[in-house]
Amino acid sequence: MSQPGVMDETVKSRAGLALNDDFLRKAVKFTTERLRNGKKAASEEHGNWEEWRERGRQIRLHTIAHLDYYLNEFVNNARANGVHIHFADTSAEAASIALDIAMHKQASSVVKSKSMVSEEVHLNHVLEKAGIEAIETDLGEYIIQLAGEAPSHIVIPAIHKNRYQIAELLSKEAGEILEPDTTVLAGFVRKKLREKFLEADIGLTGCNFAIAETGSMVLFENEGNARMVSTVPKTQITLMGMERIIPSWADLEVMATLLPRSATGQKLTMYMSGITGPRRSADADGPDEMHIIIVDNGRSLQLGDPEFQELLNCIRCGACLNACPVYRHIGGHAYGGTYSGPIGAVLTPALNGNIEEWNDIASASSLCGACYEACPVKIPLHDMLVYLRRRKVEEGHGNKLETMGMKGFAAVAANSKRFALAIRLGQIGQKTVVRNEGISLKLGPLKGWNTYRIAPSLAKKSFRQQWDILDRELDQQQYAAMDTSVRERMQQIVRDRGQGGSKHGK
Ligand code: SF4
Repeated sequence: MSQPGVMDETVKSRAGLALNDDFLRKAVKFTTERLRNGKKAASEEHGNWEEWRERGRQIRLHTIAHLDYYLNEFVNNARANGVHIHFADTSAEAASIALDIAMHKQASSVVKSKSMVSEEVHLNHVLEKAGIEAIETDLGEYIIQLAGEAPSHIVIPAIHKNRYQIAELLSKEAGEILEPDTTVLAGFVRKKLREKFLEADIGLTGCNFAIAETGSMVLFENEGNARMVSTVPKTQITLMGMERIIPSWADLEVMATLLPRSATGQKLTMYMSGITGPRRSADADGPDEMHIIIVDNGRSLQLGDPEFQELLNCIRCGACLNACPVYRHIGGHAYGGTYSGPIGAVLTPALNGNIEEWNDIASASSLCGACYEACPVKIPLHDMLVYLRRRKVEEGHGNKLETMGMKGFAAVAANSKRFALAIRLGQIGQKTVVRNEGISLKLGPLKGWNTYRIAPSLAKKSFRQQWDILDRELDQQQYAAMDTSVRERMQQIVRDRGQGGSKHGK
């Protein structure tokens, strides 16, 4: 479910709201820090992390390059296991297939475990409109459902709330004051949801991985709710993105090593369930009927696109969000889509195929590359953000002021005399606005940048000015003592400057 009214604003205005929300900033900072440290410790303890990261990347590259083959294998095997398979091209189609199944079963309630695809297709809204109760059973999802909000993190949906805010929400639901104590709060939710599991007509799950060789689907979770959802109700529906496939159980070993460590710093989640079809006669539990809805919803647009195909490699671990300095300040709702952080900044416009509507989201990044370093399957998100910005300009959605600024900078930077003059003028001009070695001028195009940070001022002596002094002071003997490659590089720089002023450069 999208946050009400969220798309009426821009990334900038939503980010402004987040930056002024002290509770949100503290809560997001605290949890992302904990997750980042957990991931760091778990990957160091693994001992061979980079090698496994590369193995993960190769598995995902291979699978997506042969997605038609593995999807076909998965579908044939799942059907042989007794699963009903449906294909949905769009989000509306996916939601309507799930609704048809629920109507056919005369369902009055659906219990759900965590599924980002169900958020993507706004399933709760569609079910509720038809009079069917949709109950989130993941603790974080349950909290944000009560708050009427969208998830603000792929793995920790209620990351932006602290326990006092959560106690307030749950107290309203309980009709009594609940202490802001995690044991009390979790105890209330457990009791409440237990009744819902037993009453529900349908269980709806997401899918972390779908194993082609046996037609099975695999779920990773910590609360046991996905296991309840997939065993208690008589009918199970699974919503899966079409890229969730991996070829074999042997490949799952690599993914099961990468995913929990990257997501929460755990060696393995508390529960890992492999489901191969509905209940058989000898099984103690499980659904009598099982449906898998395979959702495209813009994913096939990435296939064959050399710049964006690797997006389909994503295993939704959330590590790039925890590593991103922008996400850590503004949380997930500022991004405005189902997916947030660096992956959301690229995936949302890519899935929608609509850069115009999302043209500011690609700017919510410092391009530092921390997302790439964190990603367990090495998706080059920082490069993709640049491609997206380029496409935005090519499609005529660029910011005119920014375009003029870049053209002006190119004209100055391409000529050493102009560049030196600009630096000199900047050094003189900045004197009126520099405070404590920084510039905090909240005017014109600098206002947004300087409202929440101090921009560093130009150095009193630039590198080039220091270089000139060095160049004048070094004598022949000192040059001769230098490493040849350093000397040649210095001579080249002096030649490139085109000033001919060096006594050693010619
Ligand atoms: S892009 Fe990488 S780090 Fe981010 S959610 Fe996907 S797999 Fe995880």
